[in-house]
Amino acid sequence: MAAKIKRRTFLKTTSLGVIGSAVLPYKAMAKLTPVEKPSSSLVYRTLGKTGLKVTVVSYGVMDADNPALLHRALELGINHYDTAHGYQRGRNETMVGDVVESMGMRDKVIIATKVALPRDRRTMNYTPKATKESFLEMLETSLKRLKTDYVDILYNHSVYNEKMVNYGEVLEALAAAKKTGKARFVGFSTHSNEHNVIRSAIKNGQYEVILTAHNFLKSNKDELKQAIKEAAQAGIGIVVMKPMALKFDDYLGERDEKYFESALKWVLADKNVACAIPGMTTFDHLNQNFSVMANLEVDKKDVHQLAKVKFTSTGHYCSSCQECLSTCPKGVDIPEIMRSLMYYNGYHSPRLALETYSGIPSQQSLEACSDCRNCKAICRNGNNIATAIRSAHKVFA
Ligand code: SF4
Ligand code: SF4
Repeated sequence: MAAKIKRRTFLKTTSLGVIGSAVLPYKAMAKLTPVEKPSSSLVYRTLGKTGLKVTVVSYGVMDADNPALLHRALELGINHYDTAHGYQRGRNETMVGDVVESMGMRDKVIIATKVALPRDRRTMNYTPKATKESFLEMLETSLKRLKTDYVDILYNHSVYNEKMVNYGEVLEALAAAKKTGKARFVGFSTHSNEHNVIRSAIKNGQYEVILTAHNFLKSNKDELKQAIKEAAQAGIGIVVMKPMALKFDDYLGERDEKYFESALKWVLADKNVACAIPGMTTFDHLNQNFSVMANLEVDKKDVHQLAKVKFTSTGHYCSSCQECLSTCPKGVDIPEIMRSLMYYNGYHSPRLALETYSGIPSQQSLEACSDCRNCKAICRNGNNIATAIRSAHKVFA
């Protein structure tokens, strides 16, 4: 594992643009990387009323930093790429834009990006700086990085309550982006309290696509499945992120190839889900996920595999349910700390871990834990929060 990372060092380094992939032309890299095209046909589903036909295995580009990988995914026929204004401080969008432009494939590719306005996670409210104008300014920057005049899907990034679903400044910004043709379709992403925010979106009526976290380990998976069904019936296109729940290398002791396929199939077995966007950072990940399209059926082996992982992962998986927030007397943002740790330990991405951790206001960060001798926070999923906080201190504090 990489050495301990510090917020200040990280910010200084990334502002200089030093962290990132090696500077090697991606076409050259693609030629150097021998990848067999898996024998599989592409499977498409329609993304709700948008009418967009997306490959059921689409691409969550978030922590990918190898343009050759994107190049290969486009060659294979994956047609939907998900990024965000904030990923890798803009380099992720730039990479998507570069590759798509170089391949001359803008009209064949569905590009989704996300814009996040500032919010106070303690009160769950947007701050006064969260305006329509700032949202649209960020969109302009994203379009420049993506080298395009429009995105196919524009999301409000990370919505977790009804107030956020109905926040006027964002709704106006999304409507303006559609009106000017800078976004074809609009929606939001969510990775906590998903079932409730999806239902709020159905009532709201403005949203066309929802990107939701969903997997076989989520504590609210049954409620979420039902909400997804209702959204699909209302014509909202459903895209699933975090389909594998976690990267389990650290918990299973070895990379379990079959598990990832089983988890992805579990998500796609629900026809109300249009597609999933697993993160892929290696050619192995890409081939493995792509091959799932050859056979989407969840068989007995998959069921057994998922049951095994469910047992093994107990106490190691944070579903971002937010239940622990009220059990910490200082209001520490435990779910975000857990997410940062997941990126560090599970994804082996110190960069993503610190980007996530850096977004936590200092009064809700590990600073608040420094004079707390006895952690009282409780997790309903059996995670040992005291241990996690100690571990986070070693990485981030
Ligand atoms: S640590 Fe536990 S209670 Fe807190 S968000 Fe994660 S799963 Fe929920
Ligand atoms: S140590 Fe635990 S209870 Fe104390 S402030 Fe931190 S998270 Fe909260």
